[in-house]
Amino acid sequence: MTISKLADGYIEAKYYGSRSNNKVCKITPHHMSARWTGKRCAEYFTKANKGKPSANYCIGYDGDIWCSVPEEYRAYTSANFDNDSQAITIECSNSSLNYPYPISEATWNSLVNLCVDICERYGFRLDYNGNPSGSLTMHRWFANTDCPGDYLAGRFDELEQEVNSRLDQKNILKIQDIADLDLYYDINQDVAQKCGRDYNKLWEHLVNCGVKEGRTYSYVFQPKYYLQVNKDVQKAYGNNYQKALDHYLAFGIKEGRRSGIEYYTPYYRDRNGDLKKFSNGELVKHFIMFGINEWRETSPDFNVKKYREYKDLQNAFKDDCKKYYKHYLIFGQNEGRKAI
Ligand SMILES: [Zn+2]
Repeated sequence: MTISKLADGYIEAKYYGSRSNNKVCKITPHHMSARWTGKRCAEYFTKANKGKPSANYCIGYDGDIWCSVPEEYRAYTSANFDNDSQAITIECSNSSLNYPYPISEATWNSLVNLCVDICERYGFRLDYNGNPSGSLTMHRWFANTDCPGDYLAGRFDELEQEVNSRLDQKNILKIQDIADLDLYYDINQDVAQKCGRDYNKLWEHLVNCGVKEGRTYSYVFQPKYYLQVNKDVQKAYGNNYQKALDHYLAFGIKEGRRSGIEYYTPYYRDRNGDLKKFSNGELVKHFIMFGINEWRETSPDFNVKKYREYKDLQNAFKDDCKKYYKHYLIFGQNEGRKAI
């Protein structure tokens, strides 16, 4: 049973159904047309009511959040099978029952927090494009209803921006996210001799010396390469490799800049249809955590499937995708091997 950690409690609704194997990839905020706590609304959904309504979550005028239908099930909220089998639906209390059906700041804040939590866990962003194909949808597109009320409907743009910018803030990467200590060990023989495969020592060496010395320690960011292809950064910082790293983490990732021979964010998005909606930061993270092992197209200058055609490498590395990346970075490019 999947229930957000942000929920204050769970009261099982009387009516709900199966998602029929659909993945959660949408959020549909509704309004209650009532001024209730979230708990009161969840209690309402335990009774037999006309239309058999329910919702995954109910947020009260004071901001309390109650689960009524666990996330792996389809709540009966939006009068549309396709939408509800892909959406987490959220009932929001009104703060007044007069037009335009406002909601309180407490309700708004809980709604934003819950949306951020859902997007993070299911790996999608809010996309409000005014029709049901986006990931932020509204009830009135599917049924003859005012829901979510003109007040909340008027803040969908803001909801999209607020939630996505919160996701971006959570996605600011640090050096520990992009550094690979096995790569650092393998590519820097003097460091390997000094530290052995002791990760604490390797890490200490990296942050105290390696970064400043412009050594290679990451598959997505090579400091010398970064300065060479980003002339504005080089102009500002010369050959200060620490500053190059700081610039990359603070701006370069977000801006999708070229930062390594084997990975390029816009190319990665363009060549991998399942990653189209990812932000630049999410793509970098995705490549490090998954993509480098998945035989994907990741750079216009390095194609891992092409590189695998070398028989000597194939004999040595078999199906270990990441080893081909490592080999090219340490040896292949210097040996003048072809990788595209
Ligand atoms: Zn509704």
